[in-house]
Amino acid sequence: MKYTHLLFDLDNTLMDFSASSVLAFKDTLNHFEILEEQDFYPVYRKINRQVWEELENGKIDQVTLREKRFRLFFEYIGRSELDPLEGNKRYLQGIVDHPVYLDGALELLDEFKETFTMSVVTNGLKEVQRPRLENKNLKDYFKSIIVSDEIGSAKPQKEFFDYVFNTIPEAEKSKTLIIGDSLGSDILGGNNYGIDTCWMNYYKTKNDSEVKAKYSITHLPDLRNLVR
Ligand SMILES: [Mg+2]
Repeated sequence: MKYTHLLFDLDNTLMDFSASSVLAFKDTLNHFEILEEQDFYPVYRKINRQVWEELENGKIDQVTLREKRFRLFFEYIGRSELDPLEGNKRYLQGIVDHPVYLDGALELLDEFKETFTMSVVTNGLKEVQRPRLENKNLKDYFKSIIVSDEIGSAKPQKEFFDYVFNTIPEAEKSKTLIIGDSLGSDILGGNNYGIDTCWMNYYKTKNDSEVKAKYSITHLPDLRNLVR
């Protein structure tokens, strides 16, 4: 067998974060009774992505992220009197309340659990990731669950991967594959660390970046052919 250890990103790799996020955002707007004159979700998504990039580049910390994304969003819609931390809290609760799995994810984990040692490696906030992994006993599939928020470093940083391999000492780098949808965090991080990478390109986006994965799939079950 080619690999013994599989490191799964969570969002948009095993779970459809984008679908959950749309629903959670709607809950948040409803909570504040914000009427949409236009579709605000793309605005929020863009702000959120920028703020996450700042975090992944080490420019801001997790505490700032929690506050900054809704502060910028509320400013954008002219409602800067609203509490950004409350916005963040409502949104995160919405993510927990609306779990969506990618097609075939649970079946694949079920099948793989006898053969591979699997872990979750996620850049996320603990108050979201932990409860979601408790759902449907998802956590039982995994040897380790590593959440960036809890360890103070994030993919693609080397420190994050050092932590992963210290936590799973039996994992050999040459027999480990990381599977994730983000070129900038999952794939870049894996490439830099010297482990094989699989880009889970569920939304079939074009790769315009310089970061290239060893494998690319658009459908999670295709992983079966790569790992054996
Ligand atoms: Mg992801």
